[in-house]
Amino acid sequence: MHTKYIFVTGGVVSSLGKGIISSSIGRLLQSRGYRITIQKFDPYINIDPGTLNPYEHGECYVTDDGFETDLDLGHYERFTDIHTTRDNSITTGRIYQTVIDRERHGDYLGHTIQVVPHITDEIKRRMLRRLDTEHYDFIITEVGGTIGDIESAPFMEAIRQLRWELGKDAISLHLTYVPYLKAAGELKTKPTQHSVKEMQSMGIQPDILVLRTEHHLSEALLDKVAMFCNVDKDCVVQSEDLPSIYQVPIRMHEQGLDQAILRKVGITDAPEADLSAWEAFLNRMEAAKRHVSVGLVGKYDLQDAYKSIRECLHQAGIYCDCKVDIRFINSEHLTRENVDEQLSSLAGFIICPGFGQRGIEGKVIAAEYGRTHHVPTFGICLGMQMMVIEFARNVLGYADADSAEMASTLHNVIDLMASQKAVTDMGGTMRLGAYACELREGSKVREIYGKTVVRERHRHRYEFNSAYLEAYEAAGMQCVGKNPDSGLVEIVEIPAHPWYIGTQFHPEYSGTVLHPHPLFLSFLKQCLG
Ligand code: GLN
Repeated sequence: MHTKYIFVTGGVVSSLGKGIISSSIGRLLQSRGYRITIQKFDPYINIDPGTLNPYEHGECYVTDDGFETDLDLGHYERFTDIHTTRDNSITTGRIYQTVIDRERHGDYLGHTIQVVPHITDEIKRRMLRRLDTEHYDFIITEVGGTIGDIESAPFMEAIRQLRWELGKDAISLHLTYVPYLKAAGELKTKPTQHSVKEMQSMGIQPDILVLRTEHHLSEALLDKVAMFCNVDKDCVVQSEDLPSIYQVPIRMHEQGLDQAILRKVGITDAPEADLSAWEAFLNRMEAAKRHVSVGLVGKYDLQDAYKSIRECLHQAGIYCDCKVDIRFINSEHLTRENVDEQLSSLAGFIICPGFGQRGIEGKVIAAEYGRTHHVPTFGICLGMQMMVIEFARNVLGYADADSAEMASTLHNVIDLMASQKAVTDMGGTMRLGAYACELREGSKVREIYGKTVVRERHRHRYEFNSAYLEAYEAAGMQCVGKNPDSGLVEIVEIPAHPWYIGTQFHPEYSGTVLHPHPLFLSFLKQCLG
């Protein structure tokens, strides 16, 4: 089968959950045996989201091949188990960079370079992914932003052209919002009609409409939208607020969204959807009655900053038949005086990743509390580094122990490697993407993973300083995971403690709904006692 393209756009307002809808469609098509990928085009000018403040864009998600991307790619992976790469996250900045580089190189032979056709051609080239070695039955392309934004115009033009060129093989799915006016007691479809008109004015007639709503929409209302927007009746579905985003694929399936997509692209002999594994997960979620409270010790007091960690905890919780109540503990306000009050009611806690000084002393205090009170403690990246620093200060007796990121001291137990010190450009020193990690025979992590070598994703600059390795091991903190090539320490654990594990990598990037991460599972089992 040759590739079919689904273009997902949003109208009326942002934050409607295009990423969740795209991921759900991906999962539904997979459940019928199709090979899919999902990619995101963001209209902003940053080259990648790596430099974006989490307060503006939430967590930065890292792909296997070491690309810093938008958190929506995390949804794609969690829903569908695909491995995204740098080709799945494109920004306006990257499009322009490619075109400008080519212009400097003289590739355009003196022609005037313009948004149409040069920028739009580059967008189309990336949307089509014709150079991929892998074959996809469906490529789902999500365009960030909202219809009508000045920034998204070139993307819309590219979609218009592709639909014209590819005919039935390319369809447009538009996600809009149906507000409820309390004073009038009415659900309003006018914003949706306007959004569709806006698309039509750009030459794109949406094939499918997904209406986001906080209230159930009647058949009559859906019919009205179909009629006014020129869309087939079976192609208008609603996406009501649900307790869990993982219920969305099933709700879409019940309304025939996957069926409508198949009909639109002209597939008549599609296999039936097999959603049994997904449904089993949801059933378990509904049946879970036990609650466990887990702390996130970090500095970002906003939901999306630790998105993947939260999702991994929720997923793993369901496989432990419990609901995880996540409590955010602001490490900036954590002190020796209040640590007991803040942490004593938790079954366990995670010391979160991060960059820079802010809130690190609170993380060290949490690490000490977890270690000395035998509470399950999971340190991730900066969290692991703080565990290492705490151990140096309080067990090895190096009062000035610190990370070179924070202070240069006599005992930089976390440091840059010699090869990194020579590089002056900050961007050049990050360790990004998946690296192998060898697990020591007889260690807890080896038992948890049930493997000798694992691959996990990194996003950091500083490393465990191996000069201290022997001192740590002699005092009871073991370096049980190492990179087989460089020898860098990737995991520390305290075997005498019920569960005290720190990972230099980010396991949260690779837990999915159908394959929860073993470290999160094991951590929660320990939290449950
Ligand atoms: N700031 C630390 C480093 O660069 C940890 C980074 C992180 O937690 N992702 O090594």
